[in-house]
Amino acid sequence: MNSMAGTLFVISAPSGGGKSTIAAAVRQQVQGLGYSISHTTRPPRKGEQDGVDYHFVDKETFSRMVEKGAFLEWAKVYEDLYGTSLRGIRDLTASGSDILLDVDVQGGRNIKARFPESVLIFLIPPSLNVLEDRLRKRGTDEERIIRIRMNQAMDDIRNCVWYDYIVINDRLDQAIQETQSIILSLRCRAKRRLAQVKRLFEFM
Ligand code: ADP
Ligand code: 5GP
Repeated sequence: MNSMAGTLFVISAPSGGGKSTIAAAVRQQVQGLGYSISHTTRPPRKGEQDGVDYHFVDKETFSRMVEKGAFLEWAKVYEDLYGTSLRGIRDLTASGSDILLDVDVQGGRNIKARFPESVLIFLIPPSLNVLEDRLRKRGTDEERIIRIRMNQAMDDIRNCVWYDYIVINDRLDQAIQETQSIILSLRCRAKRRLAQVKRLFEFM
């Protein structure tokens, strides 16, 4: 898979930055946006479903998939392994669909290297205190995990400098709208619209 008909959008943020919330809202509101469900060795959180939030697998299964070359990219994030399977996005790219991926900054770097035309969006919390507060209020992680994720947050945020777009997730509705606008404006780029214009106008 060396080229893509649709655009590959990547969303990254520190843990608790709002990726799942914003990706879900954008997927509901923007038509034709495919989404790849990642594989992870992390145990499911309260309310998470296998095959919906992630494909939850054990370390042996994940390693076998790595050996078989089943991942477009994979990375160790915090204490677990996460990967985007090639199979998950192959069908979407074949149909020319845009794809939205939620991956960490290592995944973002790997995807940009492999697909330079991919569009990377970084979600930034309004402050570290607000981020910590949101992680706590989410109520899905024990204190030890929250500490690990907060220790990592500053390093995560520093990576926003090489992303294509930055959305500050202060007011949720505004952050959702900005993320949608990025996707919709990319769809209006002339090089992408020209094929459609040629279909509409014989003289083109
Ligand atoms: P991530 O997927 O990046 O780890 P989540 O989408 O799970 O982050 O968001 C972390 C928590 O913060 C969730 O409980 C979510 O409802 C809440 N949240 C996200 N964005 C906002 C916001 N702008 N204002 C208030 N709460 C938010
Ligand atoms: P969480 O455990 O909070 O769901 O996710 C932890 C981190 O793993 C987040 O930064 C998330 O973006 C990242 N992540 C989720 N899926 C993938 C993936 O397939 N590849 C990579 N590289 N990171 C992922």
